[in-house]
Amino acid sequence: MRTPAFGTSMVDRVRENALGPPCPQCGGGLRLTALEMDIPHFGPALLATIQCGGCSFRHTDTILTRQGEPSRFTLAVTAREHRDARVIRSQSGTLRIPELGASQEPGPQSESFLTNVEGVLWRFRDIVESAVALGADAAEAGAVLARIDRLIAGAEPFTLIVEDPTGNSAIVHRDAERVRLAPEEAAALRQGAIIIDPSAIDPT
Ligand SMILES: [Zn+2]
Repeated sequence: MRTPAFGTSMVDRVRENALGPPCPQCGGGLRLTALEMDIPHFGPALLATIQCGGCSFRHTDTILTRQGEPSRFTLAVTAREHRDARVIRSQSGTLRIPELGASQEPGPQSESFLTNVEGVLWRFRDIVESAVALGADAAEAGAVLARIDRLIAGAEPFTLIVEDPTGNSAIVHRDAERVRLAPEEAAALRQGAIIIDPSAIDPT
């Protein structure tokens, strides 16, 4: 069994099951691994991984099982230890780094992930590089990449903001500030999933 990168001490229970449907890439057998974890200072979570035995197909999802309220986490990244802070992004989470003018909003392809602050910087870096491959202005992108590299190297302080109307995204660090979003702020955020409120459906 694969050992999660963040250590096994938080993993309470692991379950593995073969899945019925075949791999969408090669038709091979899929396995679902579900790790039940308790994330320090945050609460219970489920990390689900679907993996193919025959090829590289892999899909992961992190679900915070505690019922969350709409929230915004803000971390001023001013020390080395802040770059190791764990970041949980659900499919409905928005990440922003105001100093870069960069944000990652939920979309139809958005995937949840568990990373750290530095991992978020690398994700933004990958997004900029993909934009260049798709024809974005190389000089402009080069300036952004140089700036991201300075943040990765710890040469400049910056701010990471994680917002989620479902409360399922977070920055896990004692220096991260958490505020509850007002209903209008939560409503203004894009959501990765379509949420259906059964009570709002007209029975006629
Ligand atoms: Zn496969």
